Amino acid sequence: MLSTMTGTLVDATNREKISALGQRVLSGGHISREEALFLFNLEESADIFDLLSWANRLRENFKGNKIHLCSIVNAKAGACSENCKFCAQSSFYQTGSPKYGFVDPEPVLEAADEANQNGVTAVGLVAAWRGLNEGPMLDEVCDRIRELKAGGKTRPDASLGIIKSQKVADRLKEAGLECYGHNLESSRRFFAQHCTTHTFEDRLETIRHLKNAGIKICSGGIIGMGETREDRCELAFELKAIGANVVPVNILNPIPGTPFEKNTRCQLSKS
Ligand code: SF4
Repeated sequence: MLSTMTGTLVDATNREKISALGQRVLSGGHISREEALFLFNLEESADIFDLLSWANRLRENFKGNKIHLCSIVNAKAGACSENCKFCAQSSFYQTGSPKYGFVDPEPVLEAADEANQNGVTAVGLVAAWRGLNEGPMLDEVCDRIRELKAGGKTRPDASLGIIKSQKVADRLKEAGLECYGHNLESSRRFFAQHCTTHTFEDRLETIRHLKNAGIKICSGGIIGMGETREDRCELAFELKAIGANVVPVNILNPIPGTPFEKNTRCQLSKS
């Protein structure tokens, strides 16, 4: 049995190593950072297909074959105070993104109807701003969540940026919020390469408040911003540590006007 990559399978083929790691996870075990990095560094197409096959087997085992669909409502667009280099909605860049304030009830309820007609189980309120504090805007957000919940057609989710106080997270939970989207985006090391107006720690703190409130966490990242394979591996372990319930893996869409506009898709740096 493989215990470390320098252990009994040191002379094994990549296929045997991938299989041993897959078997271990299938039976409830874990893999180390060193082992994960071995997987992240695979390049031969035969190895990638072995990896995909195992990923599929693990998904079927742990998550079954049911696909859950969710949709979002852009509840406040553009003019965001943050400087995330991948984002069309940052006020730092000229992108032609629409700009409007927080939405009224009607468009949200219409989105819930449409989602329901299309078999979508959750509608998320997504706002382009730094985050949510106590005050009138929190009251308004909670009203939208309650309205969605009362409609009974979809599950209310949200992605509303940084939360600095436990009270805010508790209010969202009381209003009926079940799941909050808050990506870590990249590794701790790489984070300042794409955002300097808030920190990786700000994002972790937000997730701690939400988890304390009993809200599920949807958190992943973006690949293709110029990070290394080690950064991707570190992000995966951070997501494991926070216990993310859902992990979205986004691929950078290089938006004209943003600093990443010239990134090739899936741009990767050598470590
Ligand atoms: S905080 Fe969100 S909306 Fe604002 S620039 Fe960053 S990613 Fe875009």
